[in-house]
Amino acid sequence: MAGIPGFLKRHTLQIGFVAVLAPLVVLLCLQFVWLGRLERASAIAQKASLSNYLEAVGTEVQYFYRAAAERSLNLPAAFFTQGRLERAAAEWQKKPVEGARLLFIVDYTHDRFGNILIHDPQDGTLRTAPASDESLAIVVACTPWQMASLAGRRVAPPALAVDERSPEHRIVVNPITDEASHIVGVAGIILDEDYFRTRLLPSVIARALPRFFPDAARDELVVTVRDARGGVIMMTPPGAEEGAAAVTRRFPFVFEDWTVSLHSPRSTPERWARANFAFNMTLSGLLAIVLMGGILLSLRSASRAVKLSQMKSDFVSNVSHELRTPLASIRVFAELLRLGRVPSPEKVREYGEYIEAEGRRLTRLIDNILDFARIESGRKSYTFVHGDLQEVVAATLRTFEVHLRPSGFSVRFDLPADPLPSIVLDPDAIGQALHNLLDNAVKYSGPVKEIAVRLAREDGDLVLAVQDHGIGIPREEQGRIFERFHRVSTGLVHEVQGSGLGLSIVEHIVQVHGGRITVASEPGRGSTFVIRLPLPPRGGAAAPHGGR
Ligand code: ADP
Repeated sequence: MAGIPGFLKRHTLQIGFVAVLAPLVVLLCLQFVWLGRLERASAIAQKASLSNYLEAVGTEVQYFYRAAAERSLNLPAAFFTQGRLERAAAEWQKKPVEGARLLFIVDYTHDRFGNILIHDPQDGTLRTAPASDESLAIVVACTPWQMASLAGRRVAPPALAVDERSPEHRIVVNPITDEASHIVGVAGIILDEDYFRTRLLPSVIARALPRFFPDAARDELVVTVRDARGGVIMMTPPGAEEGAAAVTRRFPFVFEDWTVSLHSPRSTPERWARANFAFNMTLSGLLAIVLMGGILLSLRSASRAVKLSQMKSDFVSNVSHELRTPLASIRVFAELLRLGRVPSPEKVREYGEYIEAEGRRLTRLIDNILDFARIESGRKSYTFVHGDLQEVVAATLRTFEVHLRPSGFSVRFDLPADPLPSIVLDPDAIGQALHNLLDNAVKYSGPVKEIAVRLAREDGDLVLAVQDHGIGIPREEQGRIFERFHRVSTGLVHEVQGSGLGLSIVEHIVQVHGGRITVASEPGRGSTFVIRLPLPPRGGAAAPHGGR
């Protein structure tokens, strides 16, 4: 159990990432599934609403003709039995029956086979039907009632019936019965197709459209009415593009062989639903990407903060160690000297040299720390002068060599035959950078205690290289050793004290001079740090960056 809290602490960022990513992936998958279902459901719903609209159109047509028939065809039986049929014609004349081409009456009270009287709304007459197709259609439509009348069958009125066997003569009939429910006659309407097509349909269609699709643009939905042979009877809006019908219905009650259909020239319900799906999925995907981006950025900065705080605490312990060890030795040697316990003058000098060397090292460490603090807060200042890099290097080497000789190191200094041009530099800063490189060359050296410093002119740059034959730096670490606090984490380095600040200061100094620093190294064979400082273009002085 003790391992779990430790594991959680070590992998907080990865766990945080997985904790966000996993639910996000699950959410996206669920959304994909739900949107897929919604796509199918919304296509069906869209179809259903189109279909509802057509049903409403059909219902209104049916209502219109039923109401007209019930209003005008429910004649009193007395009209037949008392021979007052012209009263019916007078009423039809008084209240015209919309949608009727002709009205008719078939009287069975005086003629068992039926006396057919026709009323033409145009002239208001009621006359005996001539032998015509119309009369034949009326006879055919009334046959069932005639049969019922002949058989003396009882009928419960109103019992509207429609006969459309002859498309030219669509007939609605209503049997008229006496108190005993025996048929005395039939009243009927021959429908006016022109009225249906040119007046009733357009008004019903136009009235229902905004009720069902209040947001649809004028030409977004096309309603087409076709006859039994599929010929287009009418289209709304007129002249619209024909297309595959999304939904089609037959008219109920009358004009049953005609169909009314609806389509959208721009889209089908399926395409509409698919577009919705694609839009929603894309939106979710984009949001997920933005979210992931945000999370990655936060995790990255959190990981940097975690690493930096780890580095800082390493730094504090490294520096404390670096301070404590030499200070302890200095105290011991100084005490020995004070107590006069050092036997020979050579030993006195040796201890003195040691104290001096350690003192200098501590000063450099403190200098580095202070410099680092100045760089971090932007307060580090440089004093640029026209100077000779060769002189700065030689002076640094002179002071450095003094301390090196006792530890058996030798420094070779290679110079070009021709004198180098002067450049604008901060001699102290360049000296400090070289010192840090030499320090590292000593600290990370192996048994071969040879250091080479080379100064040269290459491709318009002044090149200062420090080479050692020490432990070297693994390739994957070479890019990171210039980061503040970074120390190579191999065992060998841990044996050497350090703060991880030296190279970051060197890099800053070099960059301020407009130059760059690179490293070439091979573990076990040594490292070469190369500083390149740009020479001024002929006739001018190089302008260093950032110095004050
Ligand atoms: P430090 O105080 O740790 O030496 P630096 O910034 O000077 O800090 O160096 C960073 C790291 O780079 C060192 O900890 C070491 O691992 C590696 N390094 C620097 N110079 C050398 C070198 N000459 N040979 C091998 N490793 C080196």
